[in-house]
Amino acid sequence: MNKKCKNAQKVPVAGHSDVLVCGGGPAGVAAAVAAARAGASTQLIEMHGALGGVWTIGAMANVCGMRESKGGILREIQDTLRARDAVGLSERIFDIETTKLVLEEICLQSGVKVRLHTRIVDVTREDSRRLDAVITESKSGREAWEAGVIIDCTGDGDVAAFAGCRFEVGRPETGETQPMSLIAVIGGVHLDQIRPYTNLRKLESGESAAIHKHRLRKLLEKAGTPPSYSLPTLFHVRDDLFILMSNHEYARSAMNADDLTEATLHGRSEMHAQIRALRSLGGAWKNICIVATSAQIGVREGRRIHGRSTVTARDIASGARHPDAVSRCYFGADIHSTNPKENKGVGNGGLLSKPYDIPLRALIAADVDGLMMAGRCISGDFLAHSSYRVTADAVPMGESAGRVAALAARTNRFPHEVDWPEIKCDLFLSPP
Ligand SMILES: Cc1cc2nc3c(=O)[nH]c(=O)nc-3n(C[C@H](O)[C@H](O)[C@H](O)COP(=O)(O)OP(=O)(O)OC[C@H]3O[C@@H](n4cnc5c(N)ncnc54)[C@H](O)[C@@H]3O)c2cc1C
Repeated sequence: MNKKCKNAQKVPVAGHSDVLVCGGGPAGVAAAVAAARAGASTQLIEMHGALGGVWTIGAMANVCGMRESKGGILREIQDTLRARDAVGLSERIFDIETTKLVLEEICLQSGVKVRLHTRIVDVTREDSRRLDAVITESKSGREAWEAGVIIDCTGDGDVAAFAGCRFEVGRPETGETQPMSLIAVIGGVHLDQIRPYTNLRKLESGESAAIHKHRLRKLLEKAGTPPSYSLPTLFHVRDDLFILMSNHEYARSAMNADDLTEATLHGRSEMHAQIRALRSLGGAWKNICIVATSAQIGVREGRRIHGRSTVTARDIASGARHPDAVSRCYFGADIHSTNPKENKGVGNGGLLSKPYDIPLRALIAADVDGLMMAGRCISGDFLAHSSYRVTADAVPMGESAGRVAALAARTNRFPHEVDWPEIKCDLFLSPP
């Protein structure tokens, strides 16, 4: 048992479920929905007041890594958003508020019990290896939640860390992590007047991706606010609504509340300064305004929890295939600069990637039993993480973890005792 949890027996038990999903981002929602649909009683706990994680709370509504061959819950969510007219011209950026609603609906319709505004702060362990409950804090006080299988979808691997699992953070040589970014939702400008500065330019004109970003950077420089991210991107969401990613917060730890606070305060200040400067240019920019800044600063990197297998740069370079593949990843290495003195942009670290598989074993904790991970906190190295962390891989990872967890809980086994063929996975529309 974790030291701080000696008084766990005094904490009221708020719920008992077959599967407990911690964190309601893209991976967590998919895990909870899949587990509930597989017949497991399923509880989802999220610390913010909405589901979606970086996708919605972080205001980064751009889904990378999608392919025609990807099916499952990811396709279901995207099809539902399309049917609600909540997709932009790029076909991969979705209306943030509709996404929040659709994620809530899919959870509730699948029978998932959702608890918002509740943060996981600790765990209890029945014996030296088995994880059996998490401890939360909320307006209801301190509560315990027991479960057959627990899935850590907190992005930062909070649950696994509380459980004492080994993990890694950042570059192996220095521990440096990719920067955080505070995203702004932008209005007051008309697409037809600013199109060359947006991501649509690349899609419509075949122009290289970098050109519209350089154009926007030069405009920000002319306005007197060179951005801390040298490849600022203005994503078209819908109509005259945009999201702007132009801020980098370097050398901040996702596990340190002071760092998160300073990054948020600094990021918000920079985003407002940039928008004031663009307004001062007049013309097409004269009414540009911030509709909202993200409720949570976007954290690219937290803990990478040790699993029973680890996804590595070598897997990406060789296009690894696994019989227990939970997702086939198409998005290449994407490393935002860890050192602003060298550059403030993004690169692939010299890693040329081929489509590769994430094995189920990378989603099963090595150091405790009854714990899985899904999303950006799975077991992987620094370079691999920069590729598989995107939304179109987080969702299939969650979906697979949810199915395995449900079967394990219902048959009184640990996740590592479930054979992948038992899951009858149909996440790939065509065979892997
Ligand atoms: C700035 C930025 C830009 C990005 N751009 C893109 C992009 O363009 N396209 C793309 O596909 N991907 C992008 N990504 C990556 C992608 O958005 C994330 O990696 C993806 O959201 C991972 O999903 P996840 O569910 O693992 O984690 P998250 O989305 O981080 O979700 C974790 C959830 O857990 C909750 N949580 C955390 N700790 C606790 C706790 N202790 N108790 C309770 N709840 C907790 C959080 O509130 C959150 O809802 C970007 C990421 C960032 C940060």
